[in-house]
Amino acid sequence: MGSLPEQFVFRSRLPDIAIPDHLPLHDYVFERLADRRDRACLIDGATGETLSFGDVDALSRRVAAGLSSIGVCHGSTVMLLLPNSVEFAVAFLASSRLGAVTTTANPLHTPPEIAKQVAASGATVVVTEPAFVAKVSGLAGVTVVATGGGAERCASFAGLAAADGSALPEVAIDVANDAVALPYSSGTTGLPKGVMLSHRGLVTSVAQLVDGENPNLHLREDDVVLCVLPMFHVYSLHSILLCGMRAGAAIVVMKRFDTVKMLQLVERHGVTIAPLVPPIVVEMAKSDALDRHDLSSIRMVISGAAPMGKELQDIVHAKLPNAVLGQGYGMTEAGPVLSMCMAFAKEPTPVKSGACGTVVRNAELKIVDPDTGLSLPRNQPGEICIRGKQIMKGYLNNPEATEKTIDKDGWLHTGDIGFVDDDDEIFIVDRLKELIKYKGFQVAPAELEAMLIAHAAVADAAVVPMKDDSCGEIPVAFVVARDGSGITDDEIKQYVAKQVVFYKRLHKIFFVDAIPKAPSGKILRKDLRAKLAAGIPAC
Ligand code: AMP
Repeated sequence: MGSLPEQFVFRSRLPDIAIPDHLPLHDYVFERLADRRDRACLIDGATGETLSFGDVDALSRRVAAGLSSIGVCHGSTVMLLLPNSVEFAVAFLASSRLGAVTTTANPLHTPPEIAKQVAASGATVVVTEPAFVAKVSGLAGVTVVATGGGAERCASFAGLAAADGSALPEVAIDVANDAVALPYSSGTTGLPKGVMLSHRGLVTSVAQLVDGENPNLHLREDDVVLCVLPMFHVYSLHSILLCGMRAGAAIVVMKRFDTVKMLQLVERHGVTIAPLVPPIVVEMAKSDALDRHDLSSIRMVISGAAPMGKELQDIVHAKLPNAVLGQGYGMTEAGPVLSMCMAFAKEPTPVKSGACGTVVRNAELKIVDPDTGLSLPRNQPGEICIRGKQIMKGYLNNPEATEKTIDKDGWLHTGDIGFVDDDDEIFIVDRLKELIKYKGFQVAPAELEAMLIAHAAVADAAVVPMKDDSCGEIPVAFVVARDGSGITDDEIKQYVAKQVVFYKRLHKIFFVDAIPKAPSGKILRKDLRAKLAAGIPAC
């Protein structure tokens, strides 16, 4: 391919910064602990109970000692199967202190989905709530830790937290190579895979947003950040929890989304930053309750994980005239943030509708022609690629998938199609990859297709996204039924629904004679998506 012309590599307009990437993640996050020991760190939205930075530091040391006493050590994997909670944040930091890796999962996943991730990640400890214990209690070789009042045949989180935090084992963490977080993502193709985010990777990604003199994210020590997005997704884990703690902001933890309760919390705690996803912004914008609450404390609404259209942006502007509305663009494998709106830089650039910010500092971004692999100049759409210390180390136990995603020159290929405009702003216009995003949640078509094909009445199947006003995208299936099977669309929907979490359920089934495929056998998803877009439900 030859070396790239310099003008086709895009960098931040902000200067690079020195990043303390020799520190393990927990030490980096608490680096300024001495100055903020008594400041509020985590506020439980339901009870109002507040833990200071000093409390969170001490509690995470005690829980680390407790986890160590049940066998967690350097190289172990701990699964957090928890809704948003103080325990989630504390357990994540505790696991990091031990040099263990945390894999996160949605507690609403079905037992088979959870069992698959436990086996693939090698998790030996699962921290969960009593309500979800039954989902994991039968798993061989797994110690279950329950929060709350505890549960039978489990270790209790309170018990772990009673351990002596001054007696932590010495751990030599290799910051460049040891993974600290292992979220699951299907990436550009295939089944969900464990994404290894190292200490150095996450430290770099957090620093890119909140460190230095001229941060291009907004977070400051006097901020109050709303945490309604699920911490088990890397967007919330990184951009709310870790960025918030590093910046010294207070984080208001909300267990599950409810518009009215969310607005009440904003008012009660004077929330200044509201990181959201487009479906929540829609709910908020539509709600009658919006006008009954004083939301003037909000100075920024940030939207990420899925595209946010101009119309929605305009509604929010009208309802919250004092708040800047900015978008960020992330991908789990990218560490996760690629770009962020620059509204809070010293010399802010105006926020353009539909733009998802400019590339983060200490990183390079390029746009390549998916057919030729050549880099493209400004204003020409192609595949977005990113390079920097923040990107994933690779997929766990899957060097082939890693090589397909990170090329030999270190560029991570996102599978997103976009362009960079004259002001360095990034616009995403399409998706090359298979991924479906339902309200910001990932749905991997390959997972549903494997399930469909395993059904005796299904000869072949393809799953693609269909545009939807409230969810962004919904998964729908094209199915070739076996001759004479007589299977109905409802039977297929129910068959899948029994096996998967709610957002992976199939919304429509289109029976067809054949699935369009390339000579290589690859499903021609683009053709199927085009059929849906043209309003032609079946072939
Ligand atoms: P995930 O790994 O679950 O964070 O999903 C990453 C994918 O979500 C990206 O590769 C994009 O396809 C999509 N995505 C994330 N942020 C945005 C955004 N601001 N606008 C459009 N799509 C986005």
